[in-house]
Amino acid sequence: NQAKRQQLAVSAFDPGQDAVTTDALALLAELQDALAADDQILLHLQPAVDLITAAPTGAEALVRWRHPRRGQLSPGDFVPAVEHSAELQTAFTARVLDLALEAAGSWQAVGIDVPVSVNVSARSLLDPGFPAQVAEALRRHRAPASYLVLEITESVAVSQERIVDEVLAELRDMGVQLSLDDFGTGYSSLAIVTRVPVDEIKIDRSFVDDMIESPAAEAVVRGAVELGARLGVRVVAEGVETIEQRAALIALNCPTAQGYHFCKPMPADKIVQALTALAEAAPANIRPLRADD
Ligand code: C2E
Ligand code: MG
Ligand code: MG
Ligand code: MG
Repeated sequence: NQAKRQQLAVSAFDPGQDAVTTDALALLAELQDALAADDQILLHLQPAVDLITAAPTGAEALVRWRHPRRGQLSPGDFVPAVEHSAELQTAFTARVLDLALEAAGSWQAVGIDVPVSVNVSARSLLDPGFPAQVAEALRRHRAPASYLVLEITESVAVSQERIVDEVLAELRDMGVQLSLDDFGTGYSSLAIVTRVPVDEIKIDRSFVDDMIESPAAEAVVRGAVELGARLGVRVVAEGVETIEQRAALIALNCPTAQGYHFCKPMPADKIVQALTALAEAAPANIRPLRADD
C-alpha cells in the first residue's frame, strides 16, 4: 500500500504528465482569492543602472505574494501554478501590469524618465489576446508604450509557434520594447536574435557569477556584449554583486547592469526614493555609456 502511495506521489509530480496535484489545486484556489484581495499580490522593483555612473536606466518588476499563512512567496513558488489556468493567467497578468505601470507612473511623475520591465510568462506569448491586454493596461494608466519593456525568455521565443511570432510583432508595433531575459541559458542563444527582433538582452546571472574565476564564463559575457553592440541592442548584466564584477564588466564595455551591488529589489513605496538617490549620486559630467558607443 505504501509502495502504491509512493508511486502515486511520484506520478503526480511527473512534469511530463498533466496530473494536477491536490496541492496545486489548493494553490490555484488561494491564488484566486489573492487576486480578489487587493494587498496580497505585490511587486518589488529593482533598478537597472549605467555600469559606470550608476544612473538608473530602468527598473524591473519582480512579483511577490504575501500569503496569509505562508508569508511572502517568491515567483518560483507560484508562477508555474498560475500558468495552469488561462483565466488565472489573464487576471494575474493584468494585476502585474497594473502594479508595474502604477510604479512607473510614480517615478515618471518626478522626472525620472526610465521604463519598467515586466516578466512575461510563456503562456501569455501563446495568447493571441495578450497584445490587446497590454494595450488596455497602457490605456488605463494613460501610459505611453515606451514606459514598458517586456522580458521574455529564450525557451519561449525559440519555440517555432507562429502565434508567438505574431504576438511579439504586434507588441513591437505598439511601441513596447522586448528584452531577452536570462540570455545564454536556453537553446540556440545566438540563433534567437535572428528570429526575434529584441531591444535588449540580459546576460544571465550565472555567467556574471563565474566571470572572475572562469575564462569561459568571461568569454560568454564578452561575446554577448559584442553581439549586443553589433545588433545595436542594449545589454544588461544580471546579478552584479561585487565591485570586481562591476570592474570586469566595464572592462568588457558592458553598458548596464542590475544586481545587489547597486540596489536590491525594493518594495514599490521605496522605489522612487531609491531611483532618485541613484540619479542624484551619478556624476553628471560622465555621459551614460550606450550600446552603440
Ligand atoms: P529574472 O527575471 O531573471 O529576475 C532576476 C532575479 O534575480 C530576481 O529574483 C531578483 O531578485 C534576483 N536578483 C537580482 N539581483 C541579484 C543579485 O545581485 N544576486 C542574486 N543572487 N540575485 C539577484 P526573483 O525576484 O526571485 O525572481 C525570479 C524569477 O521569477 C525572475 O527571474 C522571473 O523570471 C520570474 N518572475 C518575477 N516576477 C514575475 C512576474 O511578474 N511574472 C512572471 N511570469 N515571472 C516573474
Ligand atoms: Mg527578468
Ligand atoms: Mg533575468
Ligand atoms: Mg534570471
